This record gives sequence, structure tokens and C-alpha cells, in this order.
Amino acid sequence: MTDVTELDDDLLSVDPAVPEILPLLPIREPVYFPHNIFPLFVGRDKSIRALEEARGHDRYIFLVAQRQMAIDDPTSEDIYQVGTVAEVMQVLNLPDGTVRVMLEGQARARIREYLQSDPFFRVRIELLPEAEERSAEVEALMRSVITQFQQVVELGKDIPPEALVQVVNIDDPGRLADTIIPYLHLRPKVERMQDLLETISVRDRLEKLNFILKKETEVLEIQRNIRNKVEKEMGDTQREFILREQLKAIQQELGERDDRGSEIDEYREKIQNAKMPEEVEERALKELDRLEKMPFQAPEGVVVRTYLDWLTALPWTTSTEETLDIPTAQEVLDQDHYGLAKVKERILEFLAVRKLTQEMRGPILCFAGPPGVGKTSIGKSIARALGRKFIRVSLGGVRDEAEIRGHRRTYIGAMPGRIIQGIKTTGSNNPVFMLDEIDKLGMDFRGDPSSALLEALDPEQNNAFSDHYLEVPFDLANVMFITTANLLDPIPPALKDRMEVIHFPGYTEDEKLAIARDFLVPKQRKENGITEEHLVFTDDGLMKIIREYTREAGVRNLEREVATVCRKVAKEVASGKTDQVTITENDIKPFLGMRRYHYGRAEEMDEIGAATGLVYTEFGGDIVSVEATLMKHHELKLTLTGQLGEVMKESAMAALSYVRSRARVLNFPDDFFDRMEVHIHVPAGAVPKDGPSAGITMATALASAVTRRAIRKDVAMTGEITLRGKVLPIGGVKEKVLAAHRAGMKVVLLPRENERDLEEIPQNVQDDLEFHFVDHMDQVLQLALVESPRPSPAYASASPGTA
Ligand code: ADP
Repeated sequence: MTDVTELDDDLLSVDPAVPEILPLLPIREPVYFPHNIFPLFVGRDKSIRALEEARGHDRYIFLVAQRQMAIDDPTSEDIYQVGTVAEVMQVLNLPDGTVRVMLEGQARARIREYLQSDPFFRVRIELLPEAEERSAEVEALMRSVITQFQQVVELGKDIPPEALVQVVNIDDPGRLADTIIPYLHLRPKVERMQDLLETISVRDRLEKLNFILKKETEVLEIQRNIRNKVEKEMGDTQREFILREQLKAIQQELGERDDRGSEIDEYREKIQNAKMPEEVEERALKELDRLEKMPFQAPEGVVVRTYLDWLTALPWTTSTEETLDIPTAQEVLDQDHYGLAKVKERILEFLAVRKLTQEMRGPILCFAGPPGVGKTSIGKSIARALGRKFIRVSLGGVRDEAEIRGHRRTYIGAMPGRIIQGIKTTGSNNPVFMLDEIDKLGMDFRGDPSSALLEALDPEQNNAFSDHYLEVPFDLANVMFITTANLLDPIPPALKDRMEVIHFPGYTEDEKLAIARDFLVPKQRKENGITEEHLVFTDDGLMKIIREYTREAGVRNLEREVATVCRKVAKEVASGKTDQVTITENDIKPFLGMRRYHYGRAEEMDEIGAATGLVYTEFGGDIVSVEATLMKHHELKLTLTGQLGEVMKESAMAALSYVRSRARVLNFPDDFFDRMEVHIHVPAGAVPKDGPSAGITMATALASAVTRRAIRKDVAMTGEITLRGKVLPIGGVKEKVLAAHRAGMKVVLLPRENERDLEEIPQNVQDDLEFHFVDHMDQVLQLALVESPRPSPAYASASPGTA
């Protein structure tokens, strides 16, 4: 019983004013006894009418149980004879149309006669007073009942402790019995409760209650013994099982179990199937336990579920079988790629060493080179050759350590980092894992992603890589990491040290042609659903695309242009306009529009003050035109524009100093520069440029401006300059030479020490170009400047040309 409150004795004494005729309210369970205050929910129409009747008169109503709970509209036959007269204390109309009433039980009574049955029952009653002598026996029974009730409470029966206080203070034997009975949850309920209600004799009632309580104590004691035994004898798991079953029962009682139970069971099964290491499984089960104890809708449940989803989805011990056979690997690499002989050789060596040492440990491969040279696709081939899965994750713009290592779970929307995400995607713990653009990794206040990356890549530590989100370590030791970079300089040194760099230098025109013909065209035809019957490219058609629609070290844009042609042809074929197209040199324009680059002419003619330099950017080698002009000024001033970096600015100053020091050789007055503004500009957009290798180019442009001798348009150059005009070696020779070749230059000036790099350059490119290796700037000027000076402009008075 709920809502039982302590009340004054007077209040509960039977009111002699109880009328003889009362409205009757049939109740489904006879749980209401005199001497108690209790709530009752009334929903049936007839019952509500009876209640209204009571409220309208003297507030008394007669509650009698029906014999069977299930009957909705009982007749007098279905209703017991004995019930409880109660007084209506409070009525609350609920929004769903039912009514909650507080009643106070007053006395037992019996039905004498049904007076009406519609719209509600009205009966004549006879009160059943319980006058009884207070014998010693009754006294003894009362004490026994109280003691046993105490015991029952102590043995853990689900009874609120305040009930005990209430009971101990009751002096009236009948009331004592009636107060205790509802707490005992007797079964079968209706019959036994009704029996106690109909036991008018207080002595008999106490005796019955005494017997019931005795039984109850015995049962509770046995239960306690079993529980103790269970706790002592059973292992933890069994105990857990029993407790879990109990929990289930409670949840079922609360109506929470069904969905919940199956969800929990599902997770348990998933955890068992995930083949986790022991430590992880323990962790997962612990979380599952937390989930089970949470209310179903608890917001935290979402967090736990997501976490469990991650734990169960990761390939903790799932791997693909590795097939490491060098001849097969070679075959696969050759099948997928044209050329790249040196790259393939290095990769095969790397794999061979691994096979011999049976070790995953060792350096990480780093593929360095401009975009579109096949880094990713070689990575895929390696995976294919080894029978491993392949995943590529870009690190470009990653500044936050958490992107590598995950956010802690307390963070809203937390997720594991990119490494673990990648591993999940592949579903295997030994994929080839390509970390793209490692040179674009940033660093700021949110922590240093490169140190997290280091941990992932370091074979000494990565068998227990800790992701902040997962909290449990993941073994990355079997993953084969390959990194890629466009440039090596920006890579943090600690990372660079771990890596074995393989350079992808970029392709010559002939190589591009072969790649397009043998790989890109067939691939794009297939992707666009056409065949050789529909579309053929001639070599000169492809060459025109290479020369006039792309300018790149790799073949990415070339592939895009080929794809555009394939798509357009596919459309024509599909719409029945044509069924066969051949793309020659003359058919490109309708498909790709106007040409984008002017092949073969970097400068239209020999110019004064404009020299062609060779630079190395993240897109590969390129040519740039360096310009120098002179303007009168009250003192010497050097202006540099074109987003030059610090190193490049210093080289510009060195170039100026060199040129000034050569006044005699170049034939201009010593004080020529004293009243001159020197402006050096390196065009080509807003791209920041840096590095020392434009030194000789700037010096040449400046010398040309001073001497009024034009610079040969077909000469390209690269080299660092010292103050005294020495030419020092530079990097990226192959890329730069290919760029010069691509741009149609004829003469290339390189530092003497770079001569050995020439062997990397394909023979056909070497044949097309004239190389000069220089030690000193004087040689550069001799080769680059035309002999005779042109007439001077405005500052002619100071110009050496007319001196
Ligand atoms: P990267 O990763 O270096 O930017 P990709 O691997 O994405 O370049 O290469 C771009 C495209 O060019 C891909 O479709 C690739 O298959 C193709 N490709 C690049 N190099 C070769 C080659 N040597 N042989 C065949 N196809 C190539």
C-alpha cells in the first residue's frame, strides 16, 4: 500500500453516522482495509457515477471486490458480499478522464440488498462491528505479530521502514492486523485478502496473520541462506549472472526490459565476435555494464553506444593474409604503371629486405614528388601485390593533434583520430596505409600532430598506439605505412628521420604520351562506358593535349582532359549522333576548347632585363621569368616584388652586389648604381617563392638591364650565387630540366657540381637540349647575353651603352 500515513486514533474510529444505504463501487482487488488511507484510480463509468453520488451526499461509499478481476461490467453475482466502507477525502480528475480518489477505510460491512444497478449500484448494508474482549491471548498474538513483522522487515522484505514505526505504535488489535495485511503482498491475492477481510473476529484475524508472518519469515530466512551461499560458493561470473537476472526482472517490472534486453544481448554478442584482446574485451564489457544500468533514455547512453560501436567494429585481430613474393610484386607494379623504373626498383628492394628479415620494422616509405606522378597509384599496387587492403588518408591542413589521435570521450561529438578511422574503414589490421601530404601538416596551440603521428609510425611504440577516444591501445605494428609529400623541406625533421624517401621526379613528354596511350585512355574509356570501337586517340592528338592543354609534372590534368573527351564522345555515342571518333591533332578544339598554353616559347623574343629561371615547386619543375628594371633615384635602392621569401631576397642582394662589383668587366661607371632604384620582380601570380636557386637568374636579369644587352630567349638557368659570383649547386635538377624541355627551351645552364645529376634525365630529353655547366657568373653572362647592346632609354647619360 502506498500513501499510508499515521493518523489519530479518533479519526479512524467507526463513525456511527455511516448511512445504511450506500453507492457501491466494485473494485478489482480487495486490497483496501479499514483503518487505512489509500488512493484508488477509478475509470469505469459506473464507478465514476457511484463516486459522484457519494460526493454529492455524505461522502461515504462502499468498496467491494469482484470475484474476477477481468470482468469489466460486473453484476451482483460477480461481487463479494463483504467489503469496506470508506469516506471520500479527495478527488482529482485526471486529463485522461479517469479519477484519482483518496479514501479512508472506515469499517467492514456486508451487503444486505441491491437496491439498484443502474446507472450505478446502490445497496443496503449492514456494518460488521469488531467488538471483542481484549484477552491475554489477543495480547500475546499482538506481540507475536509485531515481532514477526519486525523480523520480516529486517529480513529484507520490500516494506518501507516507516511502516514498522507505525505498526509498533498501534494499540488496537483489529487495526494492527488491518494495517499490516496490505504490506504482505499475499498470493493468490483476491482470495486470501478477501478471506482476511471477511474474518470479523479480531482474535481469528490475528491468528491467521500470525501464521502468515511465520511462514513469511521462514521463506525469507531460507532465501537469505541461499543468497549467502550463492555469494560464498559461486564464482564471480555466476553471481553476476544471478544479479543480472534479478536486474532483468526489475527492469521487466518497470517495462524497460524488452528492447533494452535485446540491445544489450546484441552488444554482448558483438563483443564476443569482435575477437578483441582480453584487455579490450574487459573494457567493452564494463561499458556494456554501465549501459545496462543506465535508464534507457539517458543521454549518456548515446555516448556509450557509439563507443561500443567503435570497439566492436575495429579489426583488432582481423588481418588479410600477406603474399610477399618479389617476382609477383614486380609483375603487379609493371602491370599498373609505365616507366618509373627507379621507383619500382627501390620498392622491390624494400620489400625484399622485409621478406628476408621477416620484419615489419624499419623505415617508413615516403613518396616525394609533384601531384599526379603516380604516388597513390603505386601505393595501391603495392597493396595489391601484397594482398593487403589499401587506405589513403590526407593530412593536408591537419593542425590539431586530436585529428590524428582522436578526441577524449568527454568531448561532445568525440571521434577517434584519422588513423583509427582509416583502420576501421579497411576492416583489417594490416593494410597499406597511405598518409598523404605529410608536408602539409600544420602545428598550433592545439598540440603538435606530428608527434602523435610519430607515435603511430614508430615501430617501437606503435604496437600499442593510444587513441584518446578509444582509451585502449590498438596494435598498428602490422600496418604498412607509406607517406607522401610534394616537398621534403616542410616535413618536421623528427618525422623525416624515420622515412626512406623515394623521389617521383615527374614525366617527360614521351613518358606522358606512353602513359596516356597505354593507361589513361583505356581506363577513361572504360569508366565512360565506351570502347576502342567508339574512340581512338592518335599519338599526335595526345601530344597536343599534353603540350597545349596541360603544363604539369604529373599526368593528373592530362587524365582529366582525356576524361573530358571520353565523356563527350560517350554522350554522342549514346545519343546516336556518331559511333566512331578518332582524335587527331586537329580534333581537339571542339572537345577541349582553346589551347591553354603556348608550347615552345617561354619568351617571344630576346629581351633586356628578363631572364628565364628554373624553379622547383610543389607542382614539380617550372620556368619563371625574372625581370629587372632600373630607374633614376637620389640614392641606391633595391625593390623586390613577387612574394619572395627571405632566402630569395638575400640572393637578390648578393646578385646586386656581384653586378656592382663587375663594373669594369661589364663596362659601366663605378658610381652607376649610386643614384638608381633597382627593381627585381619575379612574376607568376601570388605564389610565394623561396630558395637560393634563382640567384644567377636575378644577376643575369640585372646585368642585362645595366648593359642593355638582351638575354637569349631560349636559355634557361638555375644556380645559387655568391657575392663574388661563384655558382653553387642546387636541387631538383631532373624536374627543372624536364620543365625547361616542356617549355621548349634550347639551352640549359646548370652549376658545375650538378653535372652528375644529368644521368637521371632521359636520353631523348638530353638530346633535345644543350647543357652548359658553369662555375662562375661571368660564364653565365657570356652564354646568356647577346653580344651587342641596344640603345639606351631615359637614363642614357649614365648608360654604359653610349659611354
Ligand atoms: P599522385 O598520388 O602522385 O598525386 P596519382 O597516383 O593519383 O598521383 O596519379 C594520377 C593518375 O595518373 C592516376 O590515375 C594514375 O593511375 C596515373 N598514373 C600516374 N603515373 C602513372 C604511370 N607511371 N603509369 C600509369 N598510370 C600512371
